[in-house]
Amino acid sequence: MTSTGKDELELFPYKPRKYQREMVLAIRDSLEKKVPLVLESGTGSGKTICVVSQALKFSIENDKRIIYITRTNAQQRQVIEEVREIAGRFPDFKEEIFSIGMQGRSHTCLLAREDPELSKGSAEELSRFCSEMKRRRKGDGCPYFEKMIDDTEKVDELTEWMRKTLPTVEEVVERCRRAIICPYELNRMMLGSARMVIAPYIYIFDDKLRSLLLEMMGTREEDTILIVDEAHNLPEYLREILSSYLSIYSVNQCIAECERFGNPFILRNMRLSDFLLTIRDAIDQIRGEFLSEHKSDALLEKDVLTSIISDALDISRNDMRSIAEQLIIYGEEIKDLKQREKKLPRSYIYRLGAFLTSWLDLDDESFVRLIVDETDGRNPRIEIYCLDPAIGARPISKFYTSIHMSGTLSPLDEYKDSLSLPEDTKLISFPSPFPKENRRVVYTPLVSTKYEEIRSSDEMVERIKEMIVKICNSFSKNTIVFFPSFDLMKEFVDRGLVKEVKKTIYLEKREMKQDELMDIVLKFKKGKGKGNVMLSVVGGRISEGMDFPAEELEIAIIVGIPYPKPTARQKALQRYYDKKFGKGWDYAVNAPTARKLLQSIGRLIRDEKDRGIAVILDRRAYRFRRYLSDLKISGDLIKSIKDFLEGG
Ligand code: SF4
Repeated sequence: MTSTGKDELELFPYKPRKYQREMVLAIRDSLEKKVPLVLESGTGSGKTICVVSQALKFSIENDKRIIYITRTNAQQRQVIEEVREIAGRFPDFKEEIFSIGMQGRSHTCLLAREDPELSKGSAEELSRFCSEMKRRRKGDGCPYFEKMIDDTEKVDELTEWMRKTLPTVEEVVERCRRAIICPYELNRMMLGSARMVIAPYIYIFDDKLRSLLLEMMGTREEDTILIVDEAHNLPEYLREILSSYLSIYSVNQCIAECERFGNPFILRNMRLSDFLLTIRDAIDQIRGEFLSEHKSDALLEKDVLTSIISDALDISRNDMRSIAEQLIIYGEEIKDLKQREKKLPRSYIYRLGAFLTSWLDLDDESFVRLIVDETDGRNPRIEIYCLDPAIGARPISKFYTSIHMSGTLSPLDEYKDSLSLPEDTKLISFPSPFPKENRRVVYTPLVSTKYEEIRSSDEMVERIKEMIVKICNSFSKNTIVFFPSFDLMKEFVDRGLVKEVKKTIYLEKREMKQDELMDIVLKFKKGKGKGNVMLSVVGGRISEGMDFPAEELEIAIIVGIPYPKPTARQKALQRYYDKKFGKGWDYAVNAPTARKLLQSIGRLIRDEKDRGIAVILDRRAYRFRRYLSDLKISGDLIKSIKDFLEGG
């Protein structure tokens, strides 16, 4: 197929802006050559519409399907909105580009939404719960499923509405709730006719869910284009889903299950409760031996846990393996029982069995064992931590090809290497399309949050606090102060920061629910003109995913450089990357820190009219000048900000 610039924009619904034509051509080229593409382009540059329009066009021409994966529901909504734009502008293609959002039952099962316990269920637990509810006789099962079977007219009406309006998942759920029809099942019915399905990451990286999704879509990986949105999240996400832990809390839940469902023999004359109490003591003992007030995690040798348990119970390593099997079998029985009781079919004993099996069979190259405690001894845990996201990324290579995009992905080769993408993967970074003069980034050489400096005296914290207070009180502009952690934010608050800032001030809190957070963000945004202040964290929900157009945010203060904490886990990761690529510091420390900085600074500019200044309170900022070409040193922060705001 020949490519012409004009053709490429056939399904592009807007007047193309700077770089969008180049972006579309790069995407087209990657699709035609079946070569993965890693694409970096700043937030607000319109990369979503470039990828969506071109992938849809290519898939229509070449009889392919698309799975677009996102990390958050807000991103999913944005993609649907872009498809609506295309459908509105090119009505002849509306049917061919029919796309739907897919979310798990924890969001779309109406019974789970009504029940706090069920709403926390995993995909597998809710799938079992749902099968039970569908299997039951009329009147005793799921009313939303029953009505769906009985009222075919209503179902037809809803499917017609979906085709016409291309709704978001939230809109489907709301409409179905009113119609007493199951949104999950309705969505599922429509997957077969959708050109593009927008789903959470888990639908690709969990083998069972991926097979299910492809089966429901009626396609195979090799006939499907994979698009990964906000790809900078993917390596850490994959490490997380491949890691697992066993905490004192989970063992206590096992003990509660044992009291409720019975205490069987699990090995010769050993009862389950004996084993559970021993493992709980073992975790406490390991914590006592390896951790201290200043050390929240430590690597464990392979046999630390097993030898404590073997000594206490006089059992062999093979015995331990057969105990793990027994726990899985018994846990399955508990799940069945709960399922029959119409409860969430969860068993902590089952999870313990699965965890022990992994612990015993661990691939020592790519995983480490740890003891971790961030709770002052209340809930320590032992953990299996995955160092290599490439293990989880394997499914990507099965797809026709993949496009990975983000506003902050540099260094792109680190992303490619981390996921073991093929050598010929195309790496492209587009410069910001917005006027350079609209953004300024300055740093002060006078302070630092370097551990030794901030801990050696109170003076450094006081000096940083003074700077924050002075900036916040000097300008009537909305300002966000990004701290490297909630703990450090608390330290500043305890030292009177909130009292000294003479503005309306809002605080992001770690434990805040999403709607509470949205509530304070909306209030903060209303401060334009008088200058509200928000205290937040780098790498958090605000810095990674919220938009503050125009005057909603004009000053971002970044307190310190958000280097990862030098924990045992972090050091293990650095060693792993050193061994694998000879780039431990670059890949495990520098790259994630740069991305976090860029994400926070990125909140300032969302379109060509936005203006904003970022102030980094740390002399080490100069180390990141290759990622921040406009970075300047400032001897007088107030003057630098004033000059910028006055257009100087
Ligand atoms: S049919 Fe739908 S509403 Fe009913 S249990 Fe299953 S997912 Fe939930």
